[in-house]
Amino acid sequence: RKNSVSSAKPLPAITLDDIGGLQTEIKEEILQTLAILKEPERSEKLGITAPKGILLYGPPGTGKTLLAQAIAKEMGANFFSTSGSAFNEMFVGVGASRVRSLFQNARKQTPAVIFIDEVDALAAKRKEHGGEEGEKTLTELLVQLDGGHSNDGILFISATNRKDMLDEAFLRPGRIDFSFQVPLPDTKGRKEIIEIHSKGKQLSEDVKLSLDTLAESTSGFSGADLSSLFDTASRRALRNGQAFIEKSDLDYAIDRTILGSTSRSLNDP
Ligand code: ATP
Repeated sequence: RKNSVSSAKPLPAITLDDIGGLQTEIKEEILQTLAILKEPERSEKLGITAPKGILLYGPPGTGKTLLAQAIAKEMGANFFSTSGSAFNEMFVGVGASRVRSLFQNARKQTPAVIFIDEVDALAAKRKEHGGEEGEKTLTELLVQLDGGHSNDGILFISATNRKDMLDEAFLRPGRIDFSFQVPLPDTKGRKEIIEIHSKGKQLSEDVKLSLDTLAESTSGFSGADLSSLFDTASRRALRNGQAFIEKSDLDYAIDRTILGSTSRSLNDP
């Protein structure tokens, strides 16, 4: 358990181009951030301070984890990834010591990206924490974020669906320098994501011609929904002995996805 929190994880071969629907301004800001991180010495001479921390916020399945991975890959950094809930422990001090060893390990393997998904489990407003343990863990995180020098080769990336829950102390510049919103994709974004996930799939001619319509008819779908759409459709085509994904497979997959999200919201009001 301890190892899974604080050791580097292999990164998939992923670039910013594998992420669809990123708004131009966000992409530009990320590229600028990357330029600083890739040339820390030149940046320092130019008087630019490298960002220490980034927050990605937005609904589930919109590509926050992908973005963190693409940034780390682009930096050539070791990737330390974990979830905020991995620090929630019953015993006072355990969460804090896990935070400490995560940062210590990353400092030994720079350049490094520390990625904490569901950071709200770790950095919620103090009054909502309830309990001494959560308080101590958050304090330790703040200490670690303050401890590093900005150009020391460590970038902290956090992600959440609930930015409103986060403690203001955590969000302060110098700890979190940039917050990027990663929203649900619009029609154009969905088209890009559909292109990414249908690449390498065998599509029938009429499916190929109807990808624009598919983008238009999947309003409210996240990137993860669109990705699973093609997986579901492929599986159905396979089971039916087809060589290509047909329109009916996609229609079936759309229904399944809509049904899936309805039952999710019914179970979890
Ligand atoms: P969560 O908040 O649930 O952790 P997330 O925002 O981190 O979600 P990811 O884990 O990055 O979402 O996305 C899950 C999967 O959905 C990805 O591996 C990818 O296949 C697909 N996906 C999500 N967003 C995009 C996108 N913008 N472009 C391409 N694929 C995407």
